[in-house]
Amino acid sequence: MSTAALLQALRAELGAAQVLSEGDLSAYEMDWRRRYPGRALAVVRPGSTAEVASVMRQCAAHGVALVPQGGNTGLVGGGVPDASGRQILLSLQRLNKVRAIDAANLTMTVEAGCVLQAVQQAAAAQGLLFPLSLAAEGSCTIGGNLATNAGGTAVLRYGNARDLCLGLEVVTAQGEVLQGLSGLRKDNTGYDLRHLFIGSEGTLGVITAATLKLYPQPAARMTALAACDTLEAAVALLGLAQARAGSGLTGFELMNRFSLDLVRRHFAQLRQPLPPCPWTVLLEVSDTESEAHARGVFEGLLESALERGLIDDAAIAETLEQSHAMWHLRESIPLAQAEEGLNIKHDIALPISLIPQFVARTDAALQAAIPGIRMVDFGHLGDGNLHYNVQAPEGFDAAAFLREHEPAVNRIVFDAVQAHGGSISAEHGIGQLKREELAERKDPVALALMRSIKQALDPQGLLNPGRLI
Ligand code: FAD
Ligand code: ZN
Repeated sequence: MSTAALLQALRAELGAAQVLSEGDLSAYEMDWRRRYPGRALAVVRPGSTAEVASVMRQCAAHGVALVPQGGNTGLVGGGVPDASGRQILLSLQRLNKVRAIDAANLTMTVEAGCVLQAVQQAAAAQGLLFPLSLAAEGSCTIGGNLATNAGGTAVLRYGNARDLCLGLEVVTAQGEVLQGLSGLRKDNTGYDLRHLFIGSEGTLGVITAATLKLYPQPAARMTALAACDTLEAAVALLGLAQARAGSGLTGFELMNRFSLDLVRRHFAQLRQPLPPCPWTVLLEVSDTESEAHARGVFEGLLESALERGLIDDAAIAETLEQSHAMWHLRESIPLAQAEEGLNIKHDIALPISLIPQFVARTDAALQAAIPGIRMVDFGHLGDGNLHYNVQAPEGFDAAAFLREHEPAVNRIVFDAVQAHGGSISAEHGIGQLKREELAERKDPVALALMRSIKQALDPQGLLNPGRLI
């Protein structure tokens, strides 16, 4: 059967306006980092679960592969078609309804294409909190968040996307609908299939809706920036903050000097409350009692950190605007980096206790290999998750730097990650970017089991081929 017949069938089913094969489709075909320009056979935009299932059945009947896509903010090239022009790009963006909010059960059920920020706002409108939060929240979707098991800035307290999901509705590779929406916190009736699809990056099924966990909104939130001389001090500050604030510690982000220098350079309008220092930590404490109570905890914590010599300086946000401005600084780092030019990204997880040693040794090895490289080192220290990114030496052509040095840089970093018992992907996933690295470094038994799961669920290999495994 020809691809023309497939497109004709899809147009008959969804309407011609939702099956795009001409004009500028780069918003769907090019990834956010502009590293993987693809070309789709067509961009298909179903408006309901039944339509997703029907598209899947048509693709299966014609043996055509399909790439699911939400907000296209993924950083590993997993959500764009390859360059062959033979894959269908399945956009979930029109599945964007909040189906239900159950305040007493602290759950909400939303469709996969709901933008994360819209989900947060729908929860807030009921006085509740959906805690998943990341810099791309204005455009990434819940489906994409679950498919990549996204992390972000609230993992420390509330867990990652996996921990916030109680149930899923999924269209299988055969075009059947798995009805797994459930607001149950306990359900031991066999294999928990939801966890197979979460983090599977669109390779096992298409997520069409999810039931999510909600939390009460905290009464108050306080934010501060603190200056540390060493990474050892930042790790000790984390221990102190956990001891003092307990589960009230809802954010602990790390930024090295160069990452904030990049923000100074490219977003000069953003005020930086602290002078440049080797390591800046952003702390957030949430409190269920009151603002006064939160302030008491926070001031006690920072005073104690000053006394112990863990920090040299700190700035507490006095208003909500100042708090947003502090978070905005942190969230501007990926954009400032992109402005500076292409770079080699490493989204890695390590035991927190080993992070100072890892950074000291790996920085030194990288500088020895390529003198003058610049380290953009920031991330979610509270989760042991660093964005350990390598920018070309000042004045170097970024594209040429990547061409010449990316394999060697990756080897140095990932060897060190492995030697320290870490993971080569903490929260962004594998996609195309790290597929070979995964094949080389993952436990062979785990890889074999992953392949048999893929074979069992998608024997024709239609779902996001060439990604992840
Ligand atoms: P897409 O990019 O569209 O897709 C991502 C993957 O999921 C692809 O493999 C795709 O095939 C698959 N997929 C998408 N929707 C579905 C679906 N409905 N069913 C099945 N598979 C699907 N990530 C973090 O974890 N933490 C961060 O702090 C973070 N910060 C970021 C900051 C910026 C500025 C940017 C650009 C990205 C950041 N990311 C972060 C990465 C990205 O935003 C997240 O991975 C996000 O969860 C992707 O959602 P999306 O809807 O854009 O997915
Ligand atoms: Zn991150």
